[in-house]
Amino acid sequence: MPKSAKSKPLLSVVLPSYNEEVNIPITYNELTKNIDTTKFDYQIIFVNDGSRDGTWSEIEKIARKDSGVEGLNFSRNFGHHAALEAGLQQAIGDVVIMMDADLQHPPSLIPKLIEEWEKGCDIVNTVRLSTEDAGLFKNVSSRLFYAFMNTFSDLRLKDGEADYRLISKRALVTLNSLPEAPKFYRGLINWIGYDVARVEYVAQARMHGKSSYTLKKMIELARLGLTSFSMKPLKIIITIGMALTALSLLALVVMIGVKLFVNPEYFTNNAILIMFLVLMTGVLTTFQGIIAVYLVDIFNEAKGRPTYIVKDITKKRDE
Ligand code: UDP
Ligand code: MG
Repeated sequence: MPKSAKSKPLLSVVLPSYNEEVNIPITYNELTKNIDTTKFDYQIIFVNDGSRDGTWSEIEKIARKDSGVEGLNFSRNFGHHAALEAGLQQAIGDVVIMMDADLQHPPSLIPKLIEEWEKGCDIVNTVRLSTEDAGLFKNVSSRLFYAFMNTFSDLRLKDGEADYRLISKRALVTLNSLPEAPKFYRGLINWIGYDVARVEYVAQARMHGKSSYTLKKMIELARLGLTSFSMKPLKIIITIGMALTALSLLALVVMIGVKLFVNPEYFTNNAILIMFLVLMTGVLTTFQGIIAVYLVDIFNEAKGRPTYIVKDITKKRDE
């Protein structure tokens, strides 16, 4: 659809695409159909993440016909999050929606997302109620993913909250200004602290092609979420070390006490020696934990996350 009156607000849609040649044209049609029911003009950004099929030529074909469509072509497969980041850097809309290019994220939800945004929310997350075609493996593995993340990280992720969401212009600017790389959007979205609304939907079956979120990519995602949002594993080291030191020190004192004052035969020298080694292990683990504390600080510094984010300001004094 050609762009009309200049006064229309702009909606940017970012779609990471990996081996989606069949899905691209369908997604595009569905998107435009739904966006045309709103008051928005669109900037649709397809990011081809090094697909090995005809995804890029499909994107080029559409971009030639429609000036509202832009394509980015990665030199190789850099992963979903990298593609998201590239698309978000390119987005200039008043509102931005990120979604998958396989129609599992229904574009028919877009008017609803915009409605929530108009009520004043900066982030509108979608919550998938169930994936109709997901096999046992996918269901179990995504359950495990959320359980793991919620146990070991500082994040509270909700089951079914995927990367289909609307963000406001200021949330976009904030996210794009964070220097850390790679970005774990699911966590950062909450971390930036703007108001979040939720919209529920039932996921459709994947239309064509197959899920490219392999176990390896899932594990990588979990690792990213864990290291960018949790110091727990490092804190566990120091806790174990200190507990080990305290307990073995106590045991050692008791053992030596018994040997000296009660019964010299009760504990053998070997037993005492072993307990001494346990104590030393505790001390060493504690030292490692102390080093880990420095590591946490260095890591936080290296990510370059700002210490705060201002959401509103009453008025700026003119200079
Ligand atoms: N994707 C990507 N790079 C990858 C893997 C996936 O850009 O290395 C895209 C993919 O084209 C889709 C989205 O990320 O638009 C989600 O991938 P997929 O549908 O395979 O994951 P699932 O829906 O099964 O979690
Ligand atoms: Mg999918």
